[in-house]
Amino acid sequence: MKAIGFFGGTFAPIHNGHLRLAIELKEALGLDVVHVTPSARPPHRARPGISAERRLDWVRLAVGDEPGLFVDDRELRRATQGLLSYTCDSLADLKREQPDSRLFLLLGDDAANQLPSWHRWRELFELAHVVVVERPGQRSEPGAELADFLRGRKVDAACALHESPHGLWLPITVPPLAISSTRIRSLLQAGRSVRGLVPEPVIRSLTPEDVRALTIEEAAIHD
Ligand code: ATP
Repeated sequence: MKAIGFFGGTFAPIHNGHLRLAIELKEALGLDVVHVTPSARPPHRARPGISAERRLDWVRLAVGDEPGLFVDDRELRRATQGLLSYTCDSLADLKREQPDSRLFLLLGDDAANQLPSWHRWRELFELAHVVVVERPGQRSEPGAELADFLRGRKVDAACALHESPHGLWLPITVPPLAISSTRIRSLLQAGRSVRGLVPEPVIRSLTPEDVRALTIEEAAIHD
């Protein structure tokens, strides 16, 4: 049975923390592939000032030919029909496409602890296992609703996920990288270097127009 990781994000822009999460979890969980999936119209935050197409370009540049990472543009394709980017729809889509697969939803703990605010969030556990990485510098705890729901679902080893079709929650530690897209945008806004934080091909592709659009994004988020 094929093991597929699903790693979604706004990626405004993608950074090395994202890339390492995908690569470390692919290896630690023994996944065949990780789908790196930009959200076209994130339901949870101010609409990014930078276009989904541009964010997808950067994901492609960042992923390059890294074995086992696959750039998944399904949420942009869905957006052309005016639909929001709901993870449960993307996972259901993926499962329909590849019925003989086991799905692993990969999240940083800041995102994971927000799950109860996601559309049809309980259904995620009928489609996938959830794997959660501790994110440095962003302490967050599951609220009571999530903590209740997780009772009996938590496991502490990846092998348990391969023995069950879906519905389990695995907290896992990977070497931490304290990088966020917010910090990248602030550095760009201040005219500072983002070398070492963002993959080189992405840095090389940044135009003054991109920097302006990312700066608008920064303004929108803090409004
Ligand atoms: P922003 O600062 O704009 O909120 P972000 O850096 O959190 O952006 P997103 O695209 O929102 O990036 O994140 C996508 C996913 O990647 C989320 O699950 C998030 O928790 C996770 N993630 C982002 N950066 C890291 C990191 N440095 N370490 C671990 N997980 C991360």
